[in-house]
Amino acid sequence: MLKNKSALVTGSTSGIGLGLARALARAGANVMLNGFGDAAAIELLRRELAAATGVQVLHHPADVSKPAEVAAMVAAAEQAFGSVDILINNAGIQFVSPVEDFPLERWAAIQDVILNASFYTIRAALPGMKRRHWGRIINLVSTHGLVASPFKSAYVAAKHGQVGLTKSVALEVAEAGITCNAICPGYVLTPLVQGQIESQAKVNNLPPERVIKEVILAVQPTKRFVEIEDIAALAVFLCSDAAKSITGAAIPIDGGWTAR
Ligand code: NAD
Repeated sequence: MLKNKSALVTGSTSGIGLGLARALARAGANVMLNGFGDAAAIELLRRELAAATGVQVLHHPADVSKPAEVAAMVAAAEQAFGSVDILINNAGIQFVSPVEDFPLERWAAIQDVILNASFYTIRAALPGMKRRHWGRIINLVSTHGLVASPFKSAYVAAKHGQVGLTKSVALEVAEAGITCNAICPGYVLTPLVQGQIESQAKVNNLPPERVIKEVILAVQPTKRFVEIEDIAALAVFLCSDAAKSITGAAIPIDGGWTAR
């Protein structure tokens, strides 16, 4: 379905981003992976994905909070593949603290990796998409781009900001064959959430199973984690021609969380 397209997925060495990269490769798109991790493990992942799908898979180690590194990554993908047709802004970090104690450097890092990085990548990838009159931009946001939780002020602010950026970009490129949407998942069991479960277990002196049931999944009416494959299927659909009229949308995939 995405044959002859090329995708760049930020933060795709782990969790949701890796699932998105796998699904895009399976749908026929060349994929530029990005993110941190052990170099040998990333290389193994790259080779395995390329061998399993037959598409080109590359990795770029850009820190997405650095505009010059992002520009170099987009240029590298354009040079290797000929285009970046699909851009998924997925890289993200989390830090939890009462707002008055929120460390300044953690606040800045969250804005940089989530919100500012999405601006840097879109800014770098749009000229090529406009030239080709085709593009798909997906910001992997969160339910926290639509509603808030306490102690996550930096994350909630950055994620709401990403939704605003999504809408603005969608309007700017609406006549250029390019769509820009936000996917807003509820809780997904990835290393990022595993970290939250462990810290909540420590703070509340609870076993991890109780944290999952009473804290994490308490907000999710289905009482199940959202699965990476479900998010990936939605992303692949948004990249298809059938989704050409969906733009500027913030789509929840949250087990009913935002229906309350
Ligand atoms: P994860 O920790 O498993 O993966 C995060 C990825 O981002 C990793 O590949 C990491 O190397 C990369 N990354 C971090 N900082 C980076 C930087 N400066 N430059 C480049 N790459 C960087 O997390 P995840 O749970 O898969 O989260 C992925 C995205 O989904 C995030 O934006 C997160 O906010 C969002 N999200 C997660 C959940 C959830 O429940 N897990 C729910 C909703 C939204």
